[in-house]
Amino acid sequence: MDQKPARHTVRWFLRTTGYAGVCLAPWGIFILAEHLHSQRLIRHEQAHWRQYERMGLLRYYVTYLWGLVRHGYADHPMEREARAAETDERLT
Ligand SMILES: [Zn+2]
Repeated sequence: MDQKPARHTVRWFLRTTGYAGVCLAPWGIFILAEHLHSQRLIRHEQAHWRQYERMGLLRYYVTYLWGLVRHGYADHPMEREARAAETDERLT
């Protein structure tokens, strides 16, 4: 999945929450324009896209939301997986 510059509502969401990018399956990966150069961020969001492809749409969101409640953002297993992908240059 190619990344797209975040526009309008997605850009507002990212700026409000303080994130630079988001994987909004099934629509795509959206990244703030000033972060489109970040291979690390792109690898992170692409890892989330692979999670979506692996789990399917409903399970992806349910698992993500349940994980947030259970583990919080930093310890979320799906976030740990995505963070591990950030530095894996085989994924670019
Ligand atoms: Zn993430």
